[in-house]
Amino acid sequence: MIVIPGTGLYLGLSGAEGNADPLPENAIFLDQVHGNRIVIDPAGGESADGMVMQRGSGIPALRVADCLPVFAVWDDFTAAAHAGWRGLAEGIVENLVAAVDSPLRWLILGPCICGDCYSVGDDVREAVITEDPSGAKGHLQGKVDLRGSALRRVRKLCGDEFQLINMNECTLESRNLHSYRGDKTVKRNLLWLAEIERGEHIRQLNGETECNSPERRKN
Ligand SMILES: [Zn+2]
Repeated sequence: MIVIPGTGLYLGLSGAEGNADPLPENAIFLDQVHGNRIVIDPAGGESADGMVMQRGSGIPALRVADCLPVFAVWDDFTAAAHAGWRGLAEGIVENLVAAVDSPLRWLILGPCICGDCYSVGDDVREAVITEDPSGAKGHLQGKVDLRGSALRRVRKLCGDEFQLINMNECTLESRNLHSYRGDKTVKRNLLWLAEIERGEHIRQLNGETECNSPERRKN
């Protein structure tokens, strides 16, 4: 569980064994299809890879096992997108942050396969780097960096004013996370963005204060 400072929200994660926050019953999942479509206020099960919802109206949730989970927070909205190479190349990340016409407050990039591990063919690499603001410079030879590309794409649209949580953990390298490329598993890491219950919030705040998190001063 990661508290998003000053928002009353947390990011939940349920990965491989010993690494599971309890998934809220009303978490909303899409039928992820590696496209670039965003659904506003989804009921759940829509064929799409991104969703935007009014704060408090639902819990956006993703299933991933190497693709990049992206979450966004505005004053009145939350959002989530599943970004693999295909969705990234087709603009899912840009579509997500452009869906709300107010300043982006937080961007959260969850665990995905890292730019050292993700070997791809020339066609895939070309598709990803074509719209990447840094082009090929952001990616090693024969590989793509989903996380770096997503961040550059958001910064191109939104500038640098938002705050960032970048969970720089590789699904292929971590034993705590499921990785499709690692073992062709059908299991997925679940991530969701939910409102913190009041009691839980206070416990988390106390826990963070003890860590002297610099973010705390904003509250
Ligand atoms: Zn890696």
